Amino acid sequence: MRKITSFIGILITFSISAQNTSYWQQHVDYTMSIDMNVENYQYDGTQKLIYTNNSPDALGEVFYHLQFNAFQPGSDMDIRLQNIKDPDRRMVNNLGTREAPIYESRIAKLKPDEIGYIKINSLQQDGVTVKYEVIGTLLKVKLNTPIMPGGKTVLDMNFKGQVPLQIRRSGRNSEEGIALSMTQWYPKLAEYDFEGWQTNQYIAREFHGVWGDFDVKITIDKEYTIGGTGYLQNPNEIGHGYSDTPVKHKKKVKKLTWHFKAPNVHDFTWAADPDYIHDKIKGENDVTLHFFYKNDKEIIENWKKLQPKTAELLSYYNTHIGQYPYKQYSVIQGGDGGMEYAMCTLITGGRNFGSLVGVTAHEFAHTWFQFLLATNETKHEWMDEGFTSYISSQAMNEILNQDKENPNAGSYRGYIRLAKSGVEEPLTTLADHYTFNYSYSNSAYSKGAVFLAQLGYIIGKENLEKTLKKYFEDFKFKHPTPNDIKRTAEKVSGIQLDWYLTYFTKTTATIDYAVDNVDTNQITLKRIGKMPMPIDLKVTYTDGTDENFYIPLKMMLGSKPTTATPLSSWSWTAPTYSFSAKKAVKSVEIDPSHLMADIDDTNNNFGL
Ligand SMILES: [Zn+2]
Repeated sequence: MRKITSFIGILITFSISAQNTSYWQQHVDYTMSIDMNVENYQYDGTQKLIYTNNSPDALGEVFYHLQFNAFQPGSDMDIRLQNIKDPDRRMVNNLGTREAPIYESRIAKLKPDEIGYIKINSLQQDGVTVKYEVIGTLLKVKLNTPIMPGGKTVLDMNFKGQVPLQIRRSGRNSEEGIALSMTQWYPKLAEYDFEGWQTNQYIAREFHGVWGDFDVKITIDKEYTIGGTGYLQNPNEIGHGYSDTPVKHKKKVKKLTWHFKAPNVHDFTWAADPDYIHDKIKGENDVTLHFFYKNDKEIIENWKKLQPKTAELLSYYNTHIGQYPYKQYSVIQGGDGGMEYAMCTLITGGRNFGSLVGVTAHEFAHTWFQFLLATNETKHEWMDEGFTSYISSQAMNEILNQDKENPNAGSYRGYIRLAKSGVEEPLTTLADHYTFNYSYSNSAYSKGAVFLAQLGYIIGKENLEKTLKKYFEDFKFKHPTPNDIKRTAEKVSGIQLDWYLTYFTKTTATIDYAVDNVDTNQITLKRIGKMPMPIDLKVTYTDGTDENFYIPLKMMLGSKPTTATPLSSWSWTAPTYSFSAKKAVKSVEIDPSHLMADIDDTNNNFGL
């Protein structure tokens, strides 16, 4: 049955214009309504999708993600958890000791009333029932009528969901007692882009979605406060901190229907709890910042102090990346760590103040890197986690007055440790497919952050700042790829950078330069690592004066703006490079800024 379907699928997913590889982007508008039962954590939902096919292809099938299905014994997420050597501690029980752990998958132990699921009751295309097949966390739908290029179709679904026990990101009754963390909770249309259908099974990692407008109604017990994506349409019926004056609900009213609209997003998330405190403040450009956290005296003071810091973060990112385009952002206690969503984040709340600001800084920065610059993070996770880590470290340095010379020094240490570990895989590895969680995190977060910080070393700090702003301006509300950040940096700096993108993201080649020899005023440098780089050099003369030198790479075909003395370029084909300084040399130092990720800095100096 499946074979026949895919054969027909191939026949009708033909390309109208085989040469057309220019950018296009699908569009989907969601209208959803769910009724939540807070006793058994089940909900009934209806969903109407209006899907516009902007691709050059006629589509004979579509795919949805049913991510709650991952939280079932035997799912791909469960099996992966049972086989990876360093599982996420939140997702396992340790039956052994700390030294000799024996991990047990928490998913494998879920009982039928504790698992997660999304079950389809009915599905129609333009009013006619269609055939579909559930494959793990995916739903494959065979359309009755192909959607032609430029065409639209309406997909109506009835579904039933069950919220799993909190294992990872989503779920009920989190460790901090949040009743409902509702992420990846609805049938979500998969993206179809220039690389085809993005149909990864939900294993653990990140997401990719279709841009569109969401209209969502949630009916739930009146005691529960909801925070999440979008703008509440009926605040004066709901109250719960959304209305200007308090709202009294009639005794006989048991449930309230919350109506949210969220324009131009690619996901919708919410959390609900009967004990939330809900505060709001205004940030730059009249953006409302909402805070939802447990009425727990241990955390209240930190959550109050977090509020003005969140407004400072908003201003920082507005200035250094680009303007936040929505009317609200919500920081919500929920989930199991910190995770970014549309117009909101779910973070754990029982943290010291620095950690609370740090996690908020990181997750809020994701609004720009991955949410608005919606890179496919299942493939290019370093552009999501890495760029976010880069900018949030810069922001923290300013907002908490940390006064660090290199706010990303921790990322350099993480990457260099990974590069020497023997288990590094290239950044092109699919996010879920790294052999170890360790290598995934240090690749995505640390090496990804180093990619940007080190780009600043190559093209200059001001060019990096301009690059980030132009990248945002050109690619917001789109799906940028690694080539797009490279091309933006090339356009801003006039420097050729294909070598940089290729070496640093598609290989595990490392950087190691050394001072090879110094003879009076003759200096010889040597490239030991395979990856070539331009060199900043500080030379101190025997008379006590010093001079900075700059050696561009020949294949850059350009130079960064610098006050250093420019030297002729160094070709990657030459392992060594020699030049004569003006006076007798006392000491030499390669890259005093430490922005080049040289994996062995013991050989970077002479005479120091
Ligand atoms: Zn992140």
